[in-house]
Amino acid sequence: MSERYDVVFVGSGINSLAGAALLAKAGKRALVLERNGYLGGAIRTEEITEPGFVHEVLAAWHPLFAGSAAYAELADDLHARGLEYLNTELPTGSLFPDGTSAFLTMSHDANVEELERQAPGDGDAWSRVVAEFMPNADLAFGVLGTELWSRAGAGLGVRAYRKLGRRGLVEFAGTLLTSCRDLLTETFASPQAHGLLAPWVLHTGLGPDAAASGFMTRVIAVAIELGGMPVPRGGGARLVEALAGIVRDAGGACETDRDVERVLVRDGRAAGVELAGGGAVEAGEAVVANVTPTQLYERLLAGAVVPREASEAARRFRYGRAEMQIHMALSEPPRWAGDERLGRTAIVHVTPGLDGVSRAVNEADRGLLPAEATIVCGQPVTIDPSRAPDGASILWIQLQELPTRVKGDAAGELEVGDGAWTEELRERYADRIQARLARQIENLDSAVQKRVVLSPADLEAANVNFVGGDIYSGSCALDQNLVWRPRPELPGHATPVDGLYHIGASTHPGPGLAAGSGTLVAKELLRQPFSRRALDRLGGLVKRV
Ligand SMILES: Cc1cc2nc3c(=O)[nH]c(=O)nc-3n(C[C@H](O)[C@H](O)[C@H](O)COP(=O)(O)OP(=O)(O)OC[C@H]3O[C@@H](n4cnc5c(N)ncnc54)[C@H](O)[C@@H]3O)c2cc1C
Repeated sequence: MSERYDVVFVGSGINSLAGAALLAKAGKRALVLERNGYLGGAIRTEEITEPGFVHEVLAAWHPLFAGSAAYAELADDLHARGLEYLNTELPTGSLFPDGTSAFLTMSHDANVEELERQAPGDGDAWSRVVAEFMPNADLAFGVLGTELWSRAGAGLGVRAYRKLGRRGLVEFAGTLLTSCRDLLTETFASPQAHGLLAPWVLHTGLGPDAAASGFMTRVIAVAIELGGMPVPRGGGARLVEALAGIVRDAGGACETDRDVERVLVRDGRAAGVELAGGGAVEAGEAVVANVTPTQLYERLLAGAVVPREASEAARRFRYGRAEMQIHMALSEPPRWAGDERLGRTAIVHVTPGLDGVSRAVNEADRGLLPAEATIVCGQPVTIDPSRAPDGASILWIQLQELPTRVKGDAAGELEVGDGAWTEELRERYADRIQARLARQIENLDSAVQKRVVLSPADLEAANVNFVGGDIYSGSCALDQNLVWRPRPELPGHATPVDGLYHIGASTHPGPGLAAGSGTLVAKELLRQPFSRRALDRLGGLVKRV
């Protein structure tokens, strides 16, 4: 083998970069190998419409990274390399078909007032949601930030038991399981409050009727009030560059156009990786694969001896709904009809409300283009004016209720052919979304200078981890989430191969920019006493002779 590093990461998503940076800070030489021509995976900043219009092609909003354990540890190093987060007082709102709207801000008092305006009692209900969440926030965030399939996971359970008692623990576990619909309808009277919060479950890969979607709604709603909607000045590429800088400054490397073909397994232990087209790299301590279980077991470990149950479990891994991304360069800021705050809000959900989200999710699950999708309309310029030329703007539009293969159109308007996402189907569906948005944004059609649309097929082509256009790299249904991610038979990040770890959105704590799995594995590698790693290596040598 020609090169040797302590730890080799397959793929350069946020989990790899953050994990490699944490290891680098502790003195490890890490190598990140990326098959695409750019680093960052779902973080990609590019002028994809017109010069001067800086788009987040994929992930755009960084509350999860800004609140992450990785950021807490790396903040000084990242800032020293130019990263700066900008935020807004107006992170989100929903606009309904009758022109009414509701907003969630970073001010608790303003939120109480806003929801009270929607229905008497809803303001107090919001206060209760926050007040009941806060004392157990450590447990809620602990569920998302702990290696559940480990002693630490058991420790979290014991801590919860000590804090809450048997009855309290059962109640807490019950709140983990509720659906978003049950949470919202039990808590708030106004359909506006329901429609303000329900679309946020889409950002966790769930729908409002799914088990555990109530827990996710609660976590996100409170996190938005506390943390707003931070974005890096100039785009996510600034974060990617800064993380890669930490890795390189410690003697590591981050390389693009390097497709890993195989994990090299020697004596039951991951010894390195082999690259497509030839070449290999040796890993002294570990190989960390940021891929789907499908790729891990069917490609990278093809030919290696792994228990049949593991590869069969990986084969059963399910992917979720597909997604579409629409980017617009606008010659002037959007002029929203209705509340003036809409023009200042980072993410506006254009939605008929809770039932509308539920219906669109159900239609997509049944293979249909939804008649009335939830339009996630992001306005990055409200936070970072550098994203567009003076006086101009951009829109980042996300549609999270789509089928991978299209069986029909719930609105009965579009011809779907054989169900594949052709250019024609992509553009006609985007036309429908633009037409709906144009009813709410008076100057939309005249302001659009250029539109670029990415269909589920385009998203999969951009990142092999987005199988079928599923941007969360695997269904987040409860049986594939938390301690059961990626599969109940494959919990945690260790694999049947010693020294090979599985990270990324397909693994706990799932998708998003929190870098949770990369952080957990980096900490595990740093926690392992040197003697154990040395013994493992020695064991491998002894087995060989
Ligand atoms: C359109 C879109 C919008 C999103 N918006 C947000 C948002 O605003 N906020 C948020 O928190 N989250 C968002 N998400 C989710 C979040 O971005 C992802 O869950 C997260 O970035 C996934 O990171 P990851 O570490 O799992 O790796 P990924 O980002 O999936 O990257 C994995 C990388 O590994 C590479 N790779 C795979 N196999 C190999 C191989 N064999 N050899 C070499 N390289 C390989 C891939 O090319 C890819 O670059 C969004 C996702 C998408 C797609």
